[in-house]
Amino acid sequence: MHVIVVGAGIIGVCTAYFLRRAGMDVTVIERRAGVAQETSFANAGVMAPSYVAPWAQPGMPGKVAAYLFKPEAPIVFRPAADLALWRWVRRWLAECAPDRFSRNKARMQRLAFYSQAQIRALRELHSLDYEQATGYLQLFRTEQEVARSEATRKMLTDLGVAHKLLTGDQARAIESTLHPVTPLAGALHLPDDETGNCAFFAHQLKDIAAREGVRFRFGVTAQGFGLSLGRIECVRTDAGELRGDAYVVAGGVDSLALLRPLGIRLPLMAVKGYSATVAITALDQAPMTSVMDETYKVAITRMGNRLRIAGTAEVGTSGMKLRESALSTLMKVAADWFPGAASYRKAQFWVGARPMLPDGPPVLGPSPLPNLFLNTGHGSTGWVMACGSGKVLADVIAGRTPEIDLDGLTIDRYDRRRAA
Ligand SMILES: Cc1cc2nc3c(=O)[nH]c(=O)nc-3n(C[C@H](O)[C@H](O)[C@H](O)COP(=O)(O)OP(=O)(O)OC[C@H]3O[C@@H](n4cnc5c(N)ncnc54)[C@H](O)[C@@H]3O)c2cc1C
Repeated sequence: MHVIVVGAGIIGVCTAYFLRRAGMDVTVIERRAGVAQETSFANAGVMAPSYVAPWAQPGMPGKVAAYLFKPEAPIVFRPAADLALWRWVRRWLAECAPDRFSRNKARMQRLAFYSQAQIRALRELHSLDYEQATGYLQLFRTEQEVARSEATRKMLTDLGVAHKLLTGDQARAIESTLHPVTPLAGALHLPDDETGNCAFFAHQLKDIAAREGVRFRFGVTAQGFGLSLGRIECVRTDAGELRGDAYVVAGGVDSLALLRPLGIRLPLMAVKGYSATVAITALDQAPMTSVMDETYKVAITRMGNRLRIAGTAEVGTSGMKLRESALSTLMKVAADWFPGAASYRKAQFWVGARPMLPDGPPVLGPSPLPNLFLNTGHGSTGWVMACGSGKVLADVIAGRTPEIDLDGLTIDRYDRRRAA
């Protein structure tokens, strides 16, 4: 069976790899010159399945309202005259109800833990070096944040995830480079959560997949699909038509443009975020453990001899321009915790768009068309879910039963006809 995958971000690359492992003939088309050049390029690198949660959660609407028009806000909503945006916001608000939040979170974590098992298995199989590291500290500047972490800690206990609430001093003992002057009321230590460079991983997995026979066609843009008798018969590209037996859409935020003409309407929204990458200039002042500043929702991840500082969720702004105040928040947080670690003035900045569905989980598996499959909408946790998503989709296309329950992870939740 020949499968054509559209998109070579982390999701498309993982899908192609697992499809090949399942014995398929695979072609990947990607409009960029290589893999992971869009949202998968410079994300925070955090792979913390225990922390995976939908952005739609109880209390979040109030927080978003409180942040409105604050330049340093970690969550930015710009109300624009855009019908699709308001429809998305309406659905998102409905998903903030406690019961929906718990249901969506469970669905996402099921996939994220499965994905963690898959990436660990891949590390056994191939020699992969993607600047991976283990251990994660969530930093609380105030006692109030410590108290608010109670619900999370209870959930981690229920899930059997190793974690420990630390005092500020205990956290500084684990990560001695935390600046002593910055207030630290406590921290949550997750010793088994991982971090790694998503783009490096994508490049290595692409090389392995290519060696195993996957064809990557870079610089080729999919313009749409040709239909015949209710099935996809080709993908139309700027390099001509390509024919396969099955097709996968893994186009990140631009999946929508490919699906809409087929009558498949996913409520997918681009939620922008920013990162800065800096070279470490003083090794003794740079963290070994990755940290997340709870106040500003900024993650600082060690990637080899660099630090990646990432954050902000921004909805309703157009274009992919770097926003000055978001970047200065990243720099402030990094300088608060590790002032001497790097030359922050030489930071390389990046903006990416998370493909976000209002409820949180991605859309995996079959579509309303029999030979079209979906692997998109991974929002702010696409890196941690990528290997699991690729494996699940390969199993579905190969006609095998996936190893996890797909309830709530397929398009059925948006498509009443299929759900019926
Ligand atoms: C600031 C920031 C921090 C983040 N931090 C984390 C984190 O710590 N952990 C985590 O798990 N996730 C994180 N994420 C989310 C994660 O990066 C995304 O979920 C993930 O990269 C999405 O991967 P993707 O393959 O779906 O999309 P992309 O990487 O965007 O890939 C889609 C690909 O499809 C191609 N494409 C689209 N349309 C076409 C077409 N018509 N023809 C040909 N090619 C096409 C694009 O060129 C692109 O290469 C973060 C995101 C941001 C923005």
